[in-house]
Amino acid sequence: MSFIETQERTELRAAVAALGAKYGQDYFRKCAAQDLKTTQLWQEAGRLGFIGVNLPEEYGGGGAGMYELSIVMEELAASGTGLLMLVVSPAICGNVIARFGTEEQKQRWLPGLAAGEITMAFGITEPDAGSNSHQITTTARRDGDRWILSGQKVFISGVDQADAVLIVGRTEEAKTGRLAPALFIVPTDAEGFTFTQIPMELENPEKQFQVFLDDVALPADALVGDPEAALSQLFAGLNPERIMGAASAIGMGRFALAKAVDYAKTRTVWKTPIGAHQAIAHPLAAGKVELEMAKLMMQKAATLYDAGDDWGAAEPANMAKYAAAEAATKLVDQAVHTLGGNGLTSEYGLAPMLALVRIAKVAPVSREMILNFVAQTSLGLPKSY
Ligand SMILES: Cc1cc2nc3c(=O)[nH]c(=O)nc-3n(C[C@H](O)[C@H](O)[C@H](O)COP(=O)(O)OP(=O)(O)OC[C@H]3O[C@@H](n4cnc5c(N)ncnc54)[C@H](O)[C@@H]3O)c2cc1C
Repeated sequence: MSFIETQERTELRAAVAALGAKYGQDYFRKCAAQDLKTTQLWQEAGRLGFIGVNLPEEYGGGGAGMYELSIVMEELAASGTGLLMLVVSPAICGNVIARFGTEEQKQRWLPGLAAGEITMAFGITEPDAGSNSHQITTTARRDGDRWILSGQKVFISGVDQADAVLIVGRTEEAKTGRLAPALFIVPTDAEGFTFTQIPMELENPEKQFQVFLDDVALPADALVGDPEAALSQLFAGLNPERIMGAASAIGMGRFALAKAVDYAKTRTVWKTPIGAHQAIAHPLAAGKVELEMAKLMMQKAATLYDAGDDWGAAEPANMAKYAAAEAATKLVDQAVHTLGGNGLTSEYGLAPMLALVRIAKVAPVSREMILNFVAQTSLGLPKSY
């Protein structure tokens, strides 16, 4: 791993930042307020090659990796336009299909995903299972050549703008009768697939949904890859999800920090700008340190993932998501405080970020489940659950 970003990566960073600046936080907030989609930004990012930057070149992608996709996520979020569906569509679904899909599945889905013309949501969370994914009950049974899928999912992002959802379910093992995890691509217009929006207190154009699968009939090739290897396939999608969660939080932290620093440099109520008071300067400086450390861990995770080391990437991917969420939530709060009363005005746009940045502590995996992973895997401590 080099600490000097290559020229290509530096150029990608600058190009994504320019796209983010062209739209800006105002666009994002307007879409959220008027219940509009961010389709224009998504499609332009697709045309510029940003959305599929991590997907294989032979299927229309950029042929780069998670490092590059994390740049796209971080820079858009740092411009106030962090697209949540980037975590899901190219990072989880794209990676899983590119690595484990059949040739037909790759040809059917990857070019559209890479171009931003197809969006795919990801559904693992269930109302009665929550963080305990071992408890999911969405089940597929065989019916001749077809699969019949039934179950429920909750908090699934962007179902209304997605063409399909990658659903984590279970199949009954022919030999043992036990239920084994399996991944299915379910088109959102399939009969028996319905969804309702969950009212959320988030100023975000990308919404969350409860999803109902009521005997959804799927062709045999809806099952992704090898059912025997579904767990490791799922794992391959979870590292990118954590890397992208970290990138989104780091971007939001940078956005808030930039606003706070700008303000602290010019706002004068005594004889110097408020940024000269250490009570204002030090928490911002500490936030900068914490963000940079989280970013380094994210880059380590992405570098290992791109080198094909799924297991090696797991620890830094979890640590980066944890560290980024902690740093960014603290920093957004400090940024709001730096602006005094203006921190809570609509004009400065920081207050809605208090809720938005908090997503990073809960999703795609909660802070506690990350600490459980580190406690058990890195430290070898026993499990309480
Ligand atoms: C904005 C948003 C978008 C989302 N998008 C998606 C999506 O696209 N697809 C998808 O599948 N899911 C999505 N989710 C769901 C998200 O992954 C879950 O909310 C998250 O995994 C936590 O599950 P839960 O909400 O059921 O909380 P619970 O599992 O009920 O947990 C509640 C609290 O208990 C803690 N807890 C639980 N178990 C333990 C334990 N063993 N030890 C210590 N503490 C524990 C948790 O950390 C948490 O603080 C999204 C959620 C949000 C908020």
